[in-house]
Amino acid sequence: MILSDNALFKQQAYVNGQWCEARDQRTLTVVNPATAAVIATVPRLGAVETQTAIRAAYDAGSAWRALTAKERSNVLRQWYDLIIAHQADLAQLLTAEQGKPLAEARSEIIYGASYVEWYAEEAKRVYGDTLPSPKTSQRLVVIKQAVGVAAAITPWNFPSAMITRKCAPALAAGCTVVIKPASSTPLSALALAELAHRAGIPAGVFNVVTGDARVIGEELTRNPLVRKLSFTGSTEIGQQLMAQCATTVKKVSLELGGNAPFIVFDDADVEQAVAGALASKYRNSGQTCICANRFLIQSGIYPRFAAALAAEVSRLQVGDGAKAGTQQGPLINQAALEKVEEYVADAVGKGANVLCGGKRHELGGYFFQPTVLTNITPDMRVAKEEIFGPVAPLFTFDTEAQAIALANETEFGLAAYFYSRDIGRVWRVAEALEYGMIGINDGMISSEAAPFGGMKASGIGREGGYYGIEEFLETKYLCLGGL
Ligand code: ADP
Repeated sequence: MILSDNALFKQQAYVNGQWCEARDQRTLTVVNPATAAVIATVPRLGAVETQTAIRAAYDAGSAWRALTAKERSNVLRQWYDLIIAHQADLAQLLTAEQGKPLAEARSEIIYGASYVEWYAEEAKRVYGDTLPSPKTSQRLVVIKQAVGVAAAITPWNFPSAMITRKCAPALAAGCTVVIKPASSTPLSALALAELAHRAGIPAGVFNVVTGDARVIGEELTRNPLVRKLSFTGSTEIGQQLMAQCATTVKKVSLELGGNAPFIVFDDADVEQAVAGALASKYRNSGQTCICANRFLIQSGIYPRFAAALAAEVSRLQVGDGAKAGTQQGPLINQAALEKVEEYVADAVGKGANVLCGGKRHELGGYFFQPTVLTNITPDMRVAKEEIFGPVAPLFTFDTEAQAIALANETEFGLAAYFYSRDIGRVWRVAEALEYGMIGINDGMISSEAAPFGGMKASGIGREGGYYGIEEFLETKYLCLGGL
């Protein structure tokens, strides 16, 4: 990996404006999933170092909050400009630790940066209210204030964008942050810390602690100085963290697992639906929480859609994300590979047909063939569980009511997609789906301007848009009496 700015390749944690090691010098290794080569080691911090980071964030809080919104905005804008200027290096680091193709990594950097730009602007628009008073002797005012120290625990599938999506609104609101990046992808977070440092984000305002997830997570959730937890990851860990936060009654935002339905009605534009399916399912080799998980295809269009999708999927270029032309990188690790393999074996064992793919890729390592399965039934694991891999199971249905019932038959409620050109159906289905985000005739729906988040077991709270900053603000009511 040759970067144009080698100082972005950091192998130390960032606490209180200083680069540091673990007290006991222990480390974690970072592996390139395309080659299984060790590319870095980072400190394995524990509870004591996490306490230090939390204390630093707490102590830095009053000065950061005391800046005007415009001053915080200027610092965030600097950070944004630096991320954009270094996007090529940041993308290389991301591909090396996570595996996604370079073009996708670069899109993630730009997407992640867009949250910093957005919240640099939004910092100036944290408005309160004046309320008509029911008593003549009183005036009622509502102000918004930063919650305090915010902890962010982020996943490996978007090593850069999940950091900015949480930290930009937190910093804009006047919070200080302690981030625990995923253990397999800490390098993107540390590079962002270097750029935050250069942008002039003061010591203690932005901290990155790498290390043992469970130990650091315990401290971030139990420490009373932390007032907010923002987590993205699995439902299982999210539930645990929420329970841990209960003892100190922290505000929580959770962005958890999904089981996105992708519905194609007979009246859909097939070409558009196939393009949307490719983008939604195979991006990041199927490893995003809003990836289409279950394809529900109306019977009249099923044969055409299945054939067209399989034709496109079998043309996808699989390989090392750092190589030009690669469209599908590896899965993140051996466990992920085995899980995807088990899902396919379970489906095939219960009668599914493999239209394309279905096996480990001949490249070996953690590569899996992009796969399309037909003849899917509800008893298969792919019908209920989050696949998190490049496997598209195609179900069939006959009526709109059946599609809605099938789509909602899950404990998850993150993203759903459907394709139809009938305007009445578009409204009916959009309103009936129990999901936080609905893609209508589009498979790529995330943007910094829109609220990202789920219903049911998919989470609490929203990231992005004007909604996202609310998660880091307290609402304070002032009653001025004695007039
Ligand atoms: P995935 O690895 O599938 O993204 P996880 O929920 O396991 O989903 O991980 C998401 C983030 O949560 C990662 O940063 C991981 O290190 C962290 N994590 C995992 N287990 C714990 C835990 N017990 N406490 C705190 N954080 C955890």
